[in-house]
Amino acid sequence: MKPKLGQHFLFDQVILDKIIDAANINDDDTIIEIGPGPGTLTVKLLEKANRVVAIELDRLLHHKLVQRFQNNDKLQLILGDALKFDFGSIGKFKVVSNIPYQITTPLIFKLLKNRDNLTSMTLTMQKEVADRIIAVPGSKAYGILSLTVQYHTQPLEIFSIPPEAFRPPPKVKSTVINFRILQTPSVEVSDPELYFRIIKAAFNQRRKTIANTLKSLYGEDTKGFLLLSDINPTHRPETLSSAQFANLANVIKGSKG
Ligand code: SAM
Repeated sequence: MKPKLGQHFLFDQVILDKIIDAANINDDDTIIEIGPGPGTLTVKLLEKANRVVAIELDRLLHHKLVQRFQNNDKLQLILGDALKFDFGSIGKFKVVSNIPYQITTPLIFKLLKNRDNLTSMTLTMQKEVADRIIAVPGSKAYGILSLTVQYHTQPLEIFSIPPEAFRPPPKVKSTVINFRILQTPSVEVSDPELYFRIIKAAFNQRRKTIANTLKSLYGEDTKGFLLLSDINPTHRPETLSSAQFANLANVIKGSKG
């Protein structure tokens, strides 16, 4: 096992079946699996899907998978780094994976860049990151990751997996999240770049008030923008909903013409 590659494998058939159920796979679906490892999830994906593309970085595991699945023409096995893979080359696809935890965030962002072809993702990931993804305003875990992922997707927590279910057990708990990819973003903003610039500045110093954190961007205008957006300037950024950040971004955009 190579800990650096996040190699914690699942063999429990009940858990694997629950992941497959959560993924809602149709027989005409193309599924991408990132990090198939020994191939336990891959077998079940092949039973349900039309085509499976599995990307494995570990040469030895890839070699074993080639031997194990050599007669299966539904499966395309790719030796390589999922972070470098051209997801635009596949057509419409769903992702179902127990992902290597050290690449969770960059991988989700890379997949979301390909959202025109992506219909859903069912990912097993470390609970701490899952908690940040599904977090709601007012909670400690709420922040840039929650707002960014919830802008493009509807993430739903399906179930948790204890460390003992993996071989070898990881140090952290795991959670399975199903992400429905939204056709249009969850909030309407006239300038998405500005929306995310505001969010980044706001959460840069999450202990300060929203008026103080946004001063770096808007100086003396900050308070006026907040009041025009119906946001209390003394509130902390983590109390604001995506709709409030969207409203603020639209007010600021409007004021600049
Ligand atoms: N799907 C298997 C399972 O559930 O038993 C294995 C999951 S294990 C958590 C993660 C797998 O991703 C390992 O097989 C590891 O070698 C592979 N991996 C690590 N980094 C990768 C990367 N950048 N691209 C593709 N695969 C990667």
